[in-house]
Amino acid sequence: MPLDLIQTELGKDRSELTEKVEALNAQFRHHSAHDVMHGALDEIEQLALVSSFGAESVVLLHMAAVVDKMTPVLFVDTQMLFTETLEYQQEVSERLGLKNVHIIRAEDEDIQRDDPYGALRLRDTDACCNLRKTFPLQRALAGYDGWITGRKRFQAGTRAALEFFEVEDGTGRIKVNPLAHWAPEDVRAYMDENNLPRHPLVAKGYPSIGCAPCTSPVKEGEDPRAGRWRDQNKEECGIHFVDGKMVRAGERT
Ligand code: SF4
Repeated sequence: MPLDLIQTELGKDRSELTEKVEALNAQFRHHSAHDVMHGALDEIEQLALVSSFGAESVVLLHMAAVVDKMTPVLFVDTQMLFTETLEYQQEVSERLGLKNVHIIRAEDEDIQRDDPYGALRLRDTDACCNLRKTFPLQRALAGYDGWITGRKRFQAGTRAALEFFEVEDGTGRIKVNPLAHWAPEDVRAYMDENNLPRHPLVAKGYPSIGCAPCTSPVKEGEDPRAGRWRDQNKEECGIHFVDGKMVRAGERT
């Protein structure tokens, strides 16, 4: 598969793009996460890393920094995040020498119109995530040919069959999942071996970290994501698309 043709092929017929992504997956099938990161950043011209600067984010951020510190990093600040996350974002960016971090927020006028008192989440968490995460991110990604995610097969649902490269439904962009084949112990080992800073909330019982009002600590033996939208029948914020639609509650990707 000629990787250098990817960016010129974006926007063409989805089946053509699918063929190319399948060829990419065949090419990288037996390669490491670092190889996938390196190959993707080398060959896909406009490629961004989308990071929440959450519990495991530092792994991908470190890999990207090793390849190219100018890798565009998109961080969605919902304006509902923990103070610890905002501080961790600055600490990690500085420590890894990331020089191209973009902080993405909803437009002020959209917040004023749809959620002026920050209470939308109490009525409709999907609408709140769309306003504060999904739409701002989709706007920010408009100029990119693809984006890198931290999704992994062990996270279950349809992620069980996740490939390194995928066509994003409905947008014509390529999604790159360098950690698709990693297990939780691989993540921990990578952080240990590279002496990477941990998000401070992990030690306080938060193995998965989102917005402060929608994230609670988890108990021993609970699913790591049990603290996200606890008791609300919602598992994803909707930044991932399936069949051209944002993922809704209970439709984990
Ligand atoms: Fe709103 Fe909660 Fe979604 Fe954050 S996680 S955008 S506060 S509903």
